[in-house]
Amino acid sequence: MIPVNEAEAIILKAIAPLTETEIVGLGEGHGRILATEVTGKLDIPHWDNSAMDGYAIRAADVPEQPVKLQVIETIPAGEVPTQTLQAGQAARIFTGAMLPEGADTIVMQENAEREGDMVTILENPTRGKFVRSQGDYYRAGEPLLQAGMRLGAADIAVLAACQCPKFPVFRRPTVAIFSTGDELRSPTDTLQPGQIVDSNRYALTAFVESIGAIAKPLPTVPDDPAKLKETMQAALAQADIVLSTGGVSVGEYDFVEKLLEELGAEILMRKVAIRPGKPLTVAKFPDGKVYFGIPGNPVSALVGCWRFVQPAIKKLSGQKDNWQPHFVWATSPETLKGAGTRDAYLWGNLTMTETGYSFTRPSGGHSSANLINLAQTNALAIVPKGVAEIQTGDRLRVMLINS
Ligand code: AMP
Ligand code: MG
Repeated sequence: MIPVNEAEAIILKAIAPLTETEIVGLGEGHGRILATEVTGKLDIPHWDNSAMDGYAIRAADVPEQPVKLQVIETIPAGEVPTQTLQAGQAARIFTGAMLPEGADTIVMQENAEREGDMVTILENPTRGKFVRSQGDYYRAGEPLLQAGMRLGAADIAVLAACQCPKFPVFRRPTVAIFSTGDELRSPTDTLQPGQIVDSNRYALTAFVESIGAIAKPLPTVPDDPAKLKETMQAALAQADIVLSTGGVSVGEYDFVEKLLEELGAEILMRKVAIRPGKPLTVAKFPDGKVYFGIPGNPVSALVGCWRFVQPAIKKLSGQKDNWQPHFVWATSPETLKGAGTRDAYLWGNLTMTETGYSFTRPSGGHSSANLINLAQTNALAIVPKGVAEIQTGDRLRVMLINS
């Protein structure tokens, strides 16, 4: 049984990031991984402009208050000033409008009194106040966004503002998914005694899509080694990573590991010290493809994906760091029990309280087969191996689930 952190390290080491790129536009960029550093051709702001509705002035004109200045023009956003401010002059100006030549300061309109073409300045202006100077935020030609960044809404805004309408991103990883088990049926089948729905197929597809990869679900496979081998080969032929669920315990119907060896893979691990989800087979093929044989229990399957597959897909996708799940410190209003020689990952809800994060388990059984109370949970609290229990109010580490 490999400790969780070691398993994560082995998995990350086995993954080589994708290198193929494609060009996308602003509308398709969200969530993608930028493949090269992007440089903008425009200073931001593009020109000196006003941060306020008010008056553009020369600070030297207002040594004391009040001072009256002559308003020589009005400059709305989008217009180009036509005059240069001379001594004793001001321009009416609006937020985002270009500063006229000669002006160095903005007085907000609340501190000015307008009468006809004259304005009385009521404050002692600080030179440069409320002026957004050209290039203050960004100088053209400097690195703007780094290669390997996942593009969020703010990054897309930056690319748009800097007139980078198209940019290279890494291609999305493809992830083949299939379930194994004689008992598995589709959600629309009439279930016979002993049969259950193959919910993992849908859970894993949603999980894969939630991290920006392309899911390729394959037909469900019965517990038949020949059919399983065929599907494994088909999956490997069409995806960068393969996820199968079921058939990785030590039961008589658990064929995955044997078949992986037959197909020439190197088995990197068989068991991880985690509950739920101990039987986790990870194998690497000579061509670099990585296969995850995940337990069939629906909770174990998702916990395994969140904890171990997610970092692998993130690294594969070209993201330069930040592959690991995010953890926070929290307390729980109840005692949380450990799992002996394994880290216990307990599902529940993390909420913000006056004193910090609080983690609460849902009601109902906490069996790894109980998919029902996993719904609507947002976090996994960790009781490390060897810790019998974490007492009410004691600090514990909680992993965020974002799917
Ligand atoms: P296994 O890992 O094949 O031994 O399966 C462990 C448990 O998970 C059994 O109770 C299975 O019926 C259940 N199970 C296996 N595969 C799935 C699946 N794809 N969807 C839902 N439950 C499953
Ligand atoms: Mg099975």
